[in-house]
Amino acid sequence: MVEITDVRKSYGNKHAVNGISFEVKEGEILGFLGPNGAGKSTTLNIITGYLSADSGSVKIDGTDILEEPLKAKKDIGFLPEIPPLYVEMTVLEYLNFVYDLKGCKLPRKQHLKEICEVVKIWDVGNRLIKNLSKGYRQRVGIAQALIGNPKVLIFDEPTIGLDPRQIIEIRNLIKMLGREHTIILSTHILPEVQAVCDRIVVINKGEIVANEKTEDLINAVDGSRKLVAKIVGPEDEVLKALRSLGGVKTAEVLGKRDTDSISYMIESQERVDIRKPLFALLSGRNWPLIGLEGMELSLEDIFMRLVGKEKDKEVGKKARKGVK
Ligand code: ADP
Repeated sequence: MVEITDVRKSYGNKHAVNGISFEVKEGEILGFLGPNGAGKSTTLNIITGYLSADSGSVKIDGTDILEEPLKAKKDIGFLPEIPPLYVEMTVLEYLNFVYDLKGCKLPRKQHLKEICEVVKIWDVGNRLIKNLSKGYRQRVGIAQALIGNPKVLIFDEPTIGLDPRQIIEIRNLIKMLGREHTIILSTHILPEVQAVCDRIVVINKGEIVANEKTEDLINAVDGSRKLVAKIVGPEDEVLKALRSLGGVKTAEVLGKRDTDSISYMIESQERVDIRKPLFALLSGRNWPLIGLEGMELSLEDIFMRLVGKEKDKEVGKKARKGVK
């Protein structure tokens, strides 16, 4: 549905996007992830035709965005990081304005009402946008993207600045829209892509460092898991036993909150699940295990591991070529 082929863009001598290619299939929700300055906005602006690439091509449902921009743009609904809202207008005035701007041909009243019902803003239709909460404004931003019923929706950091309840509502809304549309969701929040996306493309310094199904990516980088175990027992002996348990890479004391239990951080070797042997060890020694939790990987961990892997590959390549 969206095909991006070898797209490059420089600002002066700064390579913002350096030859990236990926595809988004029909009905897929793709997470586009990367640290600040990675080139996400530049890429999205090229996909939506707001910015032209120096080279490479973007096709929306087979139509090249540069060769037939009007046709291609009809298939895209875009929610930029800062939605282009006219805050002195009421919600319905604004949506009617966007309807005209897009030259939409669908039956006006019915189409706008349907959209307002989907994003749940029908009850605020006659309110001025400036008087709405950030969460409602974001819904109005999504509503304008839906006008014309485009096949592809592109959301740039859609939950930034929202409170936790609004974040969940917007994520659920995006998931629901994913049933009818192909979606690209740009974000730097890992739980967001885990919660919503089928596949993740990770970009770093203008290059793609991963393009995988969400579970595969998380599993690939989460090879060595970190667990936090709360154990009752003599600290030195427990530590020694943990460190000599097969599959354990490191074990450290994290803290002592209760009087009789101690929290340990245990890191396992790649692709080893130590939970069962850990339980067997502790029950054998009669040291009660009163808590066991996985430590969540942060986005930073993922980037470090992905970028680290890329570096390893580079070093490997250079070594094979005999380069120092
Ligand atoms: P992201 O959206 O991932 O934060 P951007 O696409 O905004 O990344 O930026 C990619 C790189 O290009 C950054 O190093 C940024 O400083 C640079 N850049 C972005 N826009 C411009 C511009 N208009 N002029 C010069 N450099 C830019």
